[in-house]
Amino acid sequence: MNKTENPQKKRILTTTIYAVIIGLLVLACAIVIATVTSKQNSTNAEIGDSEGDVGVSTTVYVVPVKDATILKDYSATEYQYNDTLKHWEIHKAIDFLAEKGADVYAFADGTVTDVKTNHMEGTYVEITHSNGLVSVYKSMDSKLNVKVGDKVIAGTVIGTVGDQMGKELNSGAHLHFELWRNGDKVDPNDYLALGEK
Ligand SMILES: [Zn+2]
Repeated sequence: MNKTENPQKKRILTTTIYAVIIGLLVLACAIVIATVTSKQNSTNAEIGDSEGDVGVSTTVYVVPVKDATILKDYSATEYQYNDTLKHWEIHKAIDFLAEKGADVYAFADGTVTDVKTNHMEGTYVEITHSNGLVSVYKSMDSKLNVKVGDKVIAGTVIGTVGDQMGKELNSGAHLHFELWRNGDKVDPNDYLALGEK
């Protein structure tokens, strides 16, 4: 009896062992797949994050006054009449209509590199940005929020609009905004989306 029973038992045992081995293999495969998938997901997430960072670090340019209405636009070749000095001049800047006391915003991230006050230009602030750009804000109130050496980010309120710019006095309160690139004045319209234009 034992001799006839044994092979049968052995077969059942072998079948069970195979079943267990296959089961374990399937489980192992499942674990490997699950691990690889979750790793891929986290890698994708990291790539997504770094792409987000790149998006944030691309330069954001801010119109320096709220509800920007252009009083006198930039012109590199066309002469415009200066009602204060009573002469025609090239105006390589944008004059933004703004009430006295209106906030003035930093055009982009940068460092304040000059602050001066004189009769012809009122108080002016110069901010040096990366990529060779320098923004200059003239006809500001002498009470500023920033001083030379301060780091600002795009949109920082650097001060308010004044009316002390002697050579544009008859224009009334406004912000005279200049943009320089590598030592030359450039058209701010090329950087700012100014709807009215
Ligand atoms: Zn001006």
